[in-house]
Amino acid sequence: MKIKELLDSPKVTISCELFPPKKGTELQNAMDIVHAIAIDGVDYMSVTYGAGGTAVGKSLAIASEVERSGVPALAHLTCIGAKKDGIARVLRDMKAGGIDNVLALRGDRPQGMDELPESDFPHASDLVRFIKETGDFCVGCATYPEGHPESRTLDEDLENMKRKVDAGCDFLVTQMFFDNEMFYNFMYRLLAKGVRVPVVAGVMPITNAKQVERIFTLSGTPIPSKLRAVVERFGDHPEALRQAGMAYTTGQIMDLIANGFNHIHVYTMNKPEVIGGIRRTLSEVIKL
Ligand code: FAD
Repeated sequence: MKIKELLDSPKVTISCELFPPKKGTELQNAMDIVHAIAIDGVDYMSVTYGAGGTAVGKSLAIASEVERSGVPALAHLTCIGAKKDGIARVLRDMKAGGIDNVLALRGDRPQGMDELPESDFPHASDLVRFIKETGDFCVGCATYPEGHPESRTLDEDLENMKRKVDAGCDFLVTQMFFDNEMFYNFMYRLLAKGVRVPVVAGVMPITNAKQVERIFTLSGTPIPSKLRAVVERFGDHPEALRQAGMAYTTGQIMDLIANGFNHIHVYTMNKPEVIGGIRRTLSEVIKL
């Protein structure tokens, strides 16, 4: 099933993200997580892809398992350092695995590297164009409400965002954010640029104190003082922090839906109990 069909409907959708395990021996555990989430119910699951194609086999195996579980899969695909024949091969494998939906990404710049490695796809928009020419895929792209760290201004980033949509991107998924007001402001600016594709709002429950610094280092996403206070107060009490972090995200989701943003992506860090807990707390809200 094409995810675009879900996002074009007025119904609320809740999706979640999985990442492949580092060790091949943990692959069965990842498959068990897929089925645990599928049984609880979710609209689709996305599966991340190692930058430069690392762990591609595991990503595809998990995404295919998602499809087998009866839930649509959104397979991430990065193009940093990639050549057309390599990407064409991965797309063929995706089709063979029953995958119809791809999140087209450039991928992160390798650490300590000023110049990007040579690639047939300098930007995600080049990858979107190639996927659309190659096969019948529904294609999503990443978007950054606080601006991508490499962009000088949010406006410059929005122009580049529009390039992805003009290249054929069907929907956008945001980087995680913790401040809904900032997201609403971003949506005005995106609409003013003429971007009309559905935007899926990405949120992440903070379930342990170490996550906070990692999130800021990896994505540059600021943590609002309201959430910092939660982490400071409950940081030494793992169960309390887990509950408080999920309550914060649940509140964020409720506010997004109340304001008409019906499509929510939860960065669940492979924890079925997180997405299950949120869905149970909002069981009536997400029926809308
Ligand atoms: P692009 O859209 O190419 O943008 C990268 C930078 O280049 C931006 O600053 C943009 O403004 C600029 N730019 C874009 N087009 C042009 C142009 N034509 N001319 C000049 N400048 C341009 N990484 C992974 O490795 N694996 C994953 O699975 C993964 N999943 C992700 C999922 C989501 C929802 C998000 C938000 C990010 C994900 N990432 C993942 C991280 C992502 O790969 C990085 O943020 C990366 O640095 C940028 O990828 P992009 O697709 O946004 O790139």
